[in-house]
Parts: sequence; C-alpha cells; structure tokens
Amino acid sequence: MKICDAHVHLGKSGPWQPYMKPTIYVDELIRLFNKYDVQRAIVFPNPNVGDKYPEMNDYIAASVKKHPERLVGFGRVDPRREDAIKELTRMKNKLALTGLKLHPFVECFRPDHPFFNKFFQKTSQLKLPILFHTGDGFSSPGLIQKIATRHPHMTIVLGHLREGCLGALKECPNIYVETSGTLPNLIELAADIDADRILFGSDVPYYRYPTQIAIIESAEIPQKIKNKIFHDSFQALFKEKQK
Ligand SMILES: [Zn+2]
Repeated sequence: MKICDAHVHLGKSGPWQPYMKPTIYVDELIRLFNKYDVQRAIVFPNPNVGDKYPEMNDYIAASVKKHPERLVGFGRVDPRREDAIKELTRMKNKLALTGLKLHPFVECFRPDHPFFNKFFQKTSQLKLPILFHTGDGFSSPGLIQKIATRHPHMTIVLGHLREGCLGALKECPNIYVETSGTLPNLIELAADIDADRILFGSDVPYYRYPTQIAIIESAEIPQKIKNKIFHDSFQALFKEKQK
C-alpha cells in the first residue's frame, strides 16, 4: 500500500517527554519511509518555541532540496513574536516552503484573538496552507474553525481528527483532517462527511507507522475510501512539482 503522510516531524528536538526521542534526521527518515512504503510526506520541525524555529525551518528546506519528490516542507513560526511575519515571508520566498504548522497549545496563543489577525492575513496572502494541532484549550477545533471561516480560501488541516473536528469538517469546505492518533470510528464518521478531505497522518516519530496505519485499516469503510485517505486526497491537494 503506497502511503502519503500529512504529519511528520523532522530535525533536532528540544527536550520532550523522556520516553520519546523525537530527534530524527533526514537520512533516517527516508529509510523509515522506504520500509513502510511512504511515497511523500509533509515534514516540519519538532516543537521548540523561542528563537529556534528559523534554523529548524532552514533544515526542513535543506531536506526538501535533497528529496523534492518525497518531502513537502512546512515551516514553524511562533506567532507571538515580533518577527513572526518576517519569518513567514522568508519561509515562503527564500526557503520555498509549502505551508505552515501551528500548535496553539505549545506555542501558547489563542488563534482567534485579534492580535493574530495580521499574522493570518499574511499567511493567507502568501497562500500557505496551515496544519493545526488540535486538542484542548487554545487548540480547540472551534477556535481554528473561526480562522477557516474568516479566510475561506485558506487550506486548513486539523491534526489528529478529534471528535470536535467533525463539525468543522462539515461546516467549512476549506478544512481537511489528518488521522494521527484518531479512532477508526471517527474516520467512519468523517468519511460520511467528505472522504476527499481526510488525509492519513502518522505523527512520526512520536507515533509509529504500524499503529497509525492500523487505525485506517480497521475502519469499516470501502477500500476505495481507504485509498483516498492513504494516498489520493494528499496527491490531489499537494500536486507534485513538474520537473
Ligand atoms: Zn506532531
């Protein structure tokens, strides 16, 4: 089964839970992709707020240059910082990154607060799709849905397909979901809404391919829909650059 993966971390990590070692460099990642038949993936830095994101974004850009046919590079920015918009512009224009990963919980910002309006306007203007971590608090799908509604042309991917993501998927045609850490039951419900907007995600190296693949495999949906989730929807959204 050929796979495209919408959620992969790449590069050096700061300290994290001691039972996880999220640092992974590109050669090791490509070996892992080959083992599990991962054709293409969105890759972005590990969580590390403060002033580290720009150099981590540089590593993503260098990795994409090495493997342009395998990697779709997303950058990370701490939107609270004064230089956030400058880094967004650099990511797009200088590093040629494709999108942005935001984690409102780790980066500690409330997405719908007016302070961030300019940031999202710039993201929209630069046509950067955003993958949002979803969960509790500042990462609630309802808050992210507000951004999707304000910017109907912005592509937003909700990470981890929580129950709260289903309403957002139904309401907003510009919202996609990604399946890392979800349940087969939620995939079945999401497939009833729109199978074309469900993307397989692994959250490697925090989660592992065998468990994340098994979530899709055990959903009671037709094989054709599984193929969309594993592969087709991603390829439609992130078309390969013509050589
Ligand atoms: Zn992640």
